[in-house]
Amino acid sequence: MSERQLSVRATDRHSFPVRGLVDLSRATYQSTPLAVTEIRPQVFSFVGAGGTVTAVGGSLGCAVIDTGYRPRVDEIRKAIASALRQPPRWLINTHWHFDHTDGNPTFAENGATIVAHTNCRARLSQDQYVPSLEWSVSASARSAWPVLTFDAPVAIDLGPQALQLITQAPAHTDGDVAVWLPSANVLVMGDLMTNGSYPIIDESSRGSLRGMVRAVEGLLGLVNSDTVVVPGHGPIGNRDSLLGFRDMLRTIEGRIQPLIASGSPVAGILAAAPTADFDRAWGRGYVTGDIFVRMILAGFGLTEEAKKSSAA
Ligand SMILES: [Zn+2]
Repeated sequence: MSERQLSVRATDRHSFPVRGLVDLSRATYQSTPLAVTEIRPQVFSFVGAGGTVTAVGGSLGCAVIDTGYRPRVDEIRKAIASALRQPPRWLINTHWHFDHTDGNPTFAENGATIVAHTNCRARLSQDQYVPSLEWSVSASARSAWPVLTFDAPVAIDLGPQALQLITQAPAHTDGDVAVWLPSANVLVMGDLMTNGSYPIIDESSRGSLRGMVRAVEGLLGLVNSDTVVVPGHGPIGNRDSLLGFRDMLRTIEGRIQPLIASGSPVAGILAAAPTADFDRAWGRGYVTGDIFVRMILAGFGLTEEAKKSSAA
């Protein structure tokens, strides 16, 4: 692999290298700026060191949502400590992807209880492979596994804030959880939303475009014009950014579905460029329009390989 292929853009966009993913991603995000924002009193976001980290204070103990990359975990924990002035009692994983869970062992060693969807634990505890992106991710260490798991919505009482952990049908993965803070009016999306970039749709974890649209539409029901919407990647958003994300997903879905129904091969659907007018706004990071379409089609079981082997 050349230097050129190894380098990825470390911006606010969802950007992963394809091969040797875990180590390369850790290296890429070793010194990217970490932007800390108090988005509401006692609710902080930490953007720039992997998936967005959110920390929430409370008199009954504070909670952290996702961890960023392991090489940044000490820095992130220090930033959380200086924001909240107490160590986190709870660590919630929005899903299994390592840019959101890589710091799990360090938080657990320091006393946090890791909480996640049952399927998030199942995937963290086994090797994973995502064919459409050629991601090979080894099972995490035992200390990274969530110890408290659930597959229906649950709430955690932090004192002034309650966290509602809202399980989703398969969307980005089959272990997605959105976190809703009703009193602060903050919605933490995990990778159910990427702000300003196409999302990853992890077909190996039963993710699908339809599932993404359904999850976003369900969560829009919680949101009003004052809600702070925290995406898994990209700048902190609001209802308008979530609506824009939903509209982009739905428009592309509406273009791809008839192409699939008409029996177009993968190459024909790619040639039809169903994302073309969105690529400037959404496709400048790691997930280009082409990659996004391939992931969507993989969710329907359509890959160039599948086509070749069915033709053979
Ligand atoms: Zn993800």
